[in-house]
Amino acid sequence: MAPAAVPVAATASELTVSAMKADLAKSTKPQLDASKLTYTFNKHGGVVPALDDPIRREHNSSTDHMLTVKWTEKGGWEAPQLRPYGHLDIMPTASCIHYATQAFEGMKAYRGVDGKLRLFRPDLNCKRMNLSSTRIALPAIDPEQLEELVKNFVSVDCPKWLPNAETFIYLRPAVIASGAALGVQKPREATLFIIAVLFPPMEIMNGMRLLASKEDMGVRAWPGGHGWSKVGANYGPTLQAQGEARERGFDQILWLLGSEGRVTEAGASNFFVVWKNKTSGRLELITAPLGDKIILDGVTRRSVIELAKSRLSHNPTEVLKEVQHLEKLDVVEQSYTIDDIAEAYESGRLVEAFACGTAFFVAPISYIQHEVEKGIEVPMNTTTADGCKSGAYAAAIKTWLKEIMYGKVSHPWGVVINERGAQ
Ligand SMILES: *Cc1c(COP(=O)(O)O)cnc(C)c1O
Repeated sequence: MAPAAVPVAATASELTVSAMKADLAKSTKPQLDASKLTYTFNKHGGVVPALDDPIRREHNSSTDHMLTVKWTEKGGWEAPQLRPYGHLDIMPTASCIHYATQAFEGMKAYRGVDGKLRLFRPDLNCKRMNLSSTRIALPAIDPEQLEELVKNFVSVDCPKWLPNAETFIYLRPAVIASGAALGVQKPREATLFIIAVLFPPMEIMNGMRLLASKEDMGVRAWPGGHGWSKVGANYGPTLQAQGEARERGFDQILWLLGSEGRVTEAGASNFFVVWKNKTSGRLELITAPLGDKIILDGVTRRSVIELAKSRLSHNPTEVLKEVQHLEKLDVVEQSYTIDDIAEAYESGRLVEAFACGTAFFVAPISYIQHEVEKGIEVPMNTTTADGCKSGAYAAAIKTWLKEIMYGKVSHPWGVVINERGAQ
């Protein structure tokens, strides 16, 4: 007898979104509530290191405070606490240490040219955090309340820790299964926290060199997996390959999928190529699609797509003088392979490539190694105002994003934060 037809399951994110809505609606437990935030200020605050202090390269210096919120299955969300930065109180049996029950976000706070403090599209990070948390059986997190908590945290620590115009600080909201419970089961306790970490100023980058992944390096994400969510479990298993790539003089891995070598992401950044379409000859900005849940729905990726559609496409909704000399393009979210890029390169159709994400911003690509003897020299035909080599499209998009982040233009994506300081 033929096996019964298996019903087509809803996609993972549909399941988690609806699960979240149902959970939130039926839950009688206290919800995450930013208005209950309490403040205990640090009386022994640290010294803010200079922008060129090498300590910033360690990515381990935090600000004076952290924000924590505890959740239990029985009691729901407790009142959020802003308190001095310090250790988290968890036992060696905590689930997050053993089973990767952890999800996180990466955002930045920016100090504008006008002296104001801004976040960039924080609503998108907060929605994604909720999806990631529920993907690994941690509680639903009301995105609006989380956004309010991030804003409160930034408004306390950034007046002191982000003093210089046109600089940023990295924000890391995370949620962990913090309860002592070694059994392999759905967590009954969790801790949500927000910290801020100092980064060195953005380096002048003359193009990243990528090493295309081979099967023996593993795959970052796969159909039906969790590559689309920002959960800690996605990153640990990639670090061995990344370390080897660094030793061989590459900046990042270009993660391919399957024997056909589908291009997915570069390191923990989304990846874009500008080329002339092989059949139509039309200029395209192409990136992997979200539909198959392999790649992360990056806030920067979305912003690049939206800006390219409104300012660089054949039907622009905004006409900007500075890109009038650039050929118009089609924005395409579609699967493509490393061989497609190699072929475009060999036939002179490859225009440029770049990676993008909050951490490394928009990073032009100069080279992709995909076979032992064969590399792709990616063109970088422009020199930007700050002396970087880049493709012209990456340079334009980067400039536009910077203008929004640093308040050179007023734009709904740049959200101004009030400053209260630690008092
Ligand atoms: C965080 C991340 C990105 C970039 O996302 P942004 O929201 O733009 O910062 C891309 N890919 C992966 C795998 C990531 O973890």
